[in-house]
Amino acid sequence: MARATIIGSGPNGLAAAVSLARAGYEVRVLEAADTIGGGVRTAESTLPGFLHDVCSAAHPAALASPFFQAFGLAERIDWIHPEISYAHPLDGGRAGIAWRDIERTASALGEDGRAWLSLLRPLSTHIDGVVDFTGNQMLRFPHEPITAFRYAMRMLEQGTPLARRTFRTDEAAGLLSGVLAHANTPLPSLAGAAAGLLLAAQAHAGGWMYPRGGAQGIADALVADLVAHGGAVETGVHVTDLSTLDWGDPARGDLLMLNTSLRLALTLPDVPTRYASALRSYRYGPAAAKVDFALDGPVPWTNDEVAQSPTVHVGGTQTEVWASENAVARGRVSERPYVLTVQPSVFDPTRAPEGKAVLWAYIHVPQGSDLDATDLITQQVERFAPGFRDRILAHHSVPASAREAINPSEIGGDILGGAFTIPQALRRPVLGTKPWRTPTPGVYLASASTPPGPGVNGMAGWHAARTALGDAGIPATLADLF
Ligand SMILES: Cc1cc2nc3c(=O)[nH]c(=O)nc-3n(C[C@H](O)[C@H](O)[C@H](O)COP(=O)(O)OP(=O)(O)OC[C@H]3O[C@@H](n4cnc5c(N)ncnc54)[C@H](O)[C@@H]3O)c2cc1C
Repeated sequence: MARATIIGSGPNGLAAAVSLARAGYEVRVLEAADTIGGGVRTAESTLPGFLHDVCSAAHPAALASPFFQAFGLAERIDWIHPEISYAHPLDGGRAGIAWRDIERTASALGEDGRAWLSLLRPLSTHIDGVVDFTGNQMLRFPHEPITAFRYAMRMLEQGTPLARRTFRTDEAAGLLSGVLAHANTPLPSLAGAAAGLLLAAQAHAGGWMYPRGGAQGIADALVADLVAHGGAVETGVHVTDLSTLDWGDPARGDLLMLNTSLRLALTLPDVPTRYASALRSYRYGPAAAKVDFALDGPVPWTNDEVAQSPTVHVGGTQTEVWASENAVARGRVSERPYVLTVQPSVFDPTRAPEGKAVLWAYIHVPQGSDLDATDLITQQVERFAPGFRDRILAHHSVPASAREAINPSEIGGDILGGAFTIPQALRRPVLGTKPWRTPTPGVYLASASTPPGPGVNGMAGWHAARTALGDAGIPATLADLF
């Protein structure tokens, strides 16, 4: 039986592992950390009984992913499907609310309701076309060309200063700016719009979903399937040099998959100069400084609907959010930063002891920053939720400079697997229809540093596995394996 060695147990590594195990390979996953899951892990990082997501917390992409649809992730774990996808509080108790129901969202946005519908309804009602277009490097002819065209037109509008003209109210402009800021790019920018419009469309298509008990459930479901198909995961194995790793013989059909930073591929023997230079010139982006809070009760948001929203974008008006993201792009941190927060205990009582709550929060910071974001985050949340500070029982801060110790793939604290720019969305890490294949026989890249990029969707892992299977003369579709 041919062997497949996968380095890294993130969602893409496990997606590749499951696919190859089902295709008949003997699969072994080597994971540096002591726990399985990479970006989908949950831990008691503050106090016993308080379950915090180590990385991803909101999952807009998971159930829209063709890989996870075929895998049956919706049925394998218990998903919470809130009515609100995300909220954006403003001073004075005002807020923009992105309900899963786009009509309800538009109606609450008043004079900007029509503009919201016109921007997002053509995308949310054709979400498969948007996912297809954005998930395939935008290089091949899209399955739904009209949807792709509409998405591209909106990207041009929201990725340029024209974006200022879309809405009249702070509620709608703030709401959209909060979701476009996820990409950790300057704003407005085409890359920010590309990522943000996908997330905003998903908010009204399937909605943003949350696994009960935390993101770890996704890793556990993948590992259970891997083990059921004869595979295994070894934790505590940090691979630093591929030239000394015994992963088998490519002539026998053995495979090596890297669910790691691209830098590990440079330790392969005899990497061709051109490929090595493409890997070396790959840029890592700004980073994240994260804080987990254990709270004595829910966050006391002034606005009641914000209190019901799992994800809350804290950052004030569109102007403030843009200023915060543009400061990071210039190597600084705003005094009033954009904070991405998720409050899972609002809808998931398993996440904290009775009456208590957890809050997951991070801000964007420059590469390698050692800023402890606790005070900045506390001040910003306090601005829209007076009394928040008094509810903090404990906190756990992870500066960007400490992220590589948690996950060696997060270079300088970059949580997106590489700078999110349009050139790098196309050249990730090389331009071509099979960027998952390396020039070294039998070796493939299976991480967020390859298309379709970051987010918990497993698609890079599936593309890597599919490419390897095709190269081995075993062409397979998702329907063949699942
Ligand atoms: C703080 C944070 C918040 C996020 N929030 C969200 C969110 O809400 N929603 C969302 O969809 N996405 C979110 N993301 C992004 C998402 O988690 C990633 O895009 C996704 O996990 C990438 O998956 P992956 O399998 O490519 O790599 P990863 O999940 O990064 O996994 C890589 C694995 O490889 C292991 N590894 C790396 N190098 C080595 C080595 N040399 N030897 C052995 N093992 C190694 C790592 O330890 C890790 O387990 C977030 C990420 C972070 C860090």
